[in-house]
Parts: sequence; C-alpha cells; structure tokens
Amino acid sequence: MTIKTHTLVIGGGPAGSTAARFLAKNGLDVILLERNLNYIKPCGGGLSINSFDEFEIPYDVIKKTTQSIILVSPSGKRLEIDLKGNNLAIVERGEFDRILRLLAEKNGAKIINAELKDIKGKNRYEITAEREGNLYKIEAEYIVAADGVNSKTRTILGLKPLKSFFTISEYISDISVDNCEFWFGFSHAPNAYSWVFPASNGISIGTGTFSQGMIHALFNNFIQRTGINKHGIRKVYRIPVWQGDLFNIDKVLFVGDSAGQVLPLTYEGIYYAMKSAEYAAQAIIDNKVNNYKKKWKSRFQKRFLLMCKLRDYFLKNDESTERLVSIHRRAEIQEASLRLWLAKESGRGSLIGYIKLIGNLLK
Ligand SMILES: Cc1cc2nc3c(=O)[nH]c(=O)nc-3n(C[C@H](O)[C@H](O)[C@H](O)COP(=O)(O)OP(=O)(O)OC[C@H]3O[C@@H](n4cnc5c(N)ncnc54)[C@H](O)[C@@H]3O)c2cc1C
Repeated sequence: MTIKTHTLVIGGGPAGSTAARFLAKNGLDVILLERNLNYIKPCGGGLSINSFDEFEIPYDVIKKTTQSIILVSPSGKRLEIDLKGNNLAIVERGEFDRILRLLAEKNGAKIINAELKDIKGKNRYEITAEREGNLYKIEAEYIVAADGVNSKTRTILGLKPLKSFFTISEYISDISVDNCEFWFGFSHAPNAYSWVFPASNGISIGTGTFSQGMIHALFNNFIQRTGINKHGIRKVYRIPVWQGDLFNIDKVLFVGDSAGQVLPLTYEGIYYAMKSAEYAAQAIIDNKVNNYKKKWKSRFQKRFLLMCKLRDYFLKNDESTERLVSIHRRAEIQEASLRLWLAKESGRGSLIGYIKLIGNLLK
C-alpha cells in the first residue's frame, strides 16, 4: 500500500524534527522518516540559551548552562570570557532529538521508523523506505532532506558528497568542567580547535582536522596536553564544510548538515539546522520553493562568509591562533564576537563594524 502525504521529511535530527513541526503546525500533512529513534549523534550539544525561546523548546532538556567560555592559546595562556547572559546550554543529543521529534508529533506530524532507500519522480515523488524487511512506499509532493552529513538523499539524487572536516570525540564520565573550553594548537588541532565541554555526568572532549589519517594521533596529543587520564569510547564523525551551494533540487529542499549549513570557524550546527528547517518549511507552506534560498541568504550569507575569512586568517598556524586568543583580551572584541556568535547579530552595520574593529587591531 502507498501512503500519501504532502511533505516527507527525511531524518529526525534537529533539522528534520523542526521542519516537520513547522509544517504540521501550519496544517500540512507531514511524515517524518527516521531510521533510528535511539540514535545519539556524536556532538558537544552546545547551543545558545536564546535558541530555546526562539524555537519553543522546553528548558528541562538543558543538562548544564555555562556563563563563560575559556580560550586556551597554543602557548597555554588561558582566557575566560564572560558570556554576559548569552549563556551556552548543553544538551544530551539523544534526549534533545527525542524531544524535538515529540514536539513535531504533538503538532500533528506522523513519524515512521524506517530508513530511506530510494526516491523516484520529479515533481511528485515516490519514496521507498525499509525497516527489518518491511517496505514502506510513500508518495509526497515535497521532500525535506534532513538526513545529515552522510545524506542518502544526496547520493540518490546523484549529488557530490559533502566536503567535510573530521572530528574525534569521547564522552568521559565522572569528570567535570564548569565552562566550555576551546583549545588551540597545531599539535592537536591544525586549522581547527579542540574542545572540553561539560556534559550530563562528565565531559565531552574532542578535536578536529581536515586530515582523516592524523585524527587518532592528534587526539592522543590533545589528551596528553590536557593531562586527563580517563578514557571513554572514541567516535569519529564528519562535520560538513559550508559551501553555500545547495538549497533545493526541484521540490526537494536540503536543510541542516545535508546542506552543509554549519557555521565556519565555530562549527556550530544545531541552531543553523533548526533555522534552515524553519525557512524551508515556510517556503513549502507558501508554495514558493525559491523563498528558502532567498531568506537564508539574506539572513546568514554575510555572516557565513565572514566566518570563513576569520577561519582562514586565524586558524592558519600557531602564531595566528595565539593572536586570536590575545585580541580577545580586549573588551570591545569580546563583545563584538559574542554579538556575532551567540546573539546572532548579522545586520550589515554590525558585520562591517566587526571587520573594521578586527582590521584596525591587526594593522
Ligand atoms: C563531534 C561533533 C561535535 C559537535 N558539537 C556541536 C556543538 O556543540 N554545537 C553545535 O551547534 N553543533 C555541534 N556539532 C554539529 C551538529 O551536531 C550538527 O550540525 C547537527 O546535528 C545537524 O543536525 P541535522 O538535523 O542536520 O543532522 P543530524 O543531527 O545528523 O540528523 C540526521 C538524522 O537523519 C537520520 N538519517 C540519516 N540517514 C537516514 C536515512 N537514510 N533514513 C532515515 N533517517 C536517516 C539520522 O539517524 C539522524 O537522526 C557537532 C558535530 C560533531 C560531529
């Protein structure tokens, strides 16, 4: 039997659940397809506390909040930055994703626990999904592809795999840190940073690199540098590198990691996954697919381009990351960076102001 729906959302992470929630809330018939309802995405789980009000997510899913972040330079200088109320919340991804799917369901989305296998058609799609030998045939007018960095939708539609950055992380229980720590140094995080974040009952610790073959050696260097002598289970996972080149193919709209929408430099993806899902859902509701790209670009394009420039400039070598930490000792730089990063200001004036401020300091 074929199930008919207006929109099929593929993937029940932050992007897919948010798209399904918005669509269902607006009265559209929506199915959310998720292959593993117990999946725990490898993730630091850090997002701005403001996002909870913006997306009406209950506060009780927050495991920890941090009022400061710590930057550690390659030479070991530590800098604590007060977040001035724009606190960071830490969530546990298994639970967070479950709550978002529940919100989608409460608004009327139907969840099917199965894996996407095939998509046929152009303006009306025939989708095949499967779970434990059971086949599902679904017919939909629109598809929202929210199936993450390894997107099967991209593969089925013949798109190139996403350019990506490799991470390795461990959850270690019974150790605690109060704040999110960002550690710089080419011996463990070339062109990137390593992190130690608070987690529910422990810490999340990890590092990243463009060079997959180096990842275990880099992580060992980082562990050695921090002096932490406990271990958890290591997970290697990819983070997409934003290229801004994919929003939709006909009536298939790509959101979150499947579209590469992770903020360069900070590698923050949860907020942008939810925001892109909101914009894509609104474009479907208005039956104007192109509005998705227009809305996203007008809100985020300049900020993402600026973050690419800052990443390329500051994450070049140890000398430049040392400078990145040292300029953040200045109150005006701290404030401007926090406005850009956590308060999500991206008006033309604030971005130009930021560039001038940094430019003047580096002259
Ligand atoms: C180590 C690490 C640390 C990170 N830390 C942070 C952080 O602290 N803060 C932050 O903001 N971002 C962080 N990120 C990025 C963040 O995790 C992602 O950007 C975010 O999860 C993207 O959400 P999404 O919904 O687009 O994709 P995902 O969360 O990957 O969800 C995709 C969903 O699709 C499902 N799926 C996949 N294929 C299929 C299929 N064929 N059929 C059905 N379902 C399918 C998956 O099971 C999954 O539930 C981190 C990433 C990594 C790797």
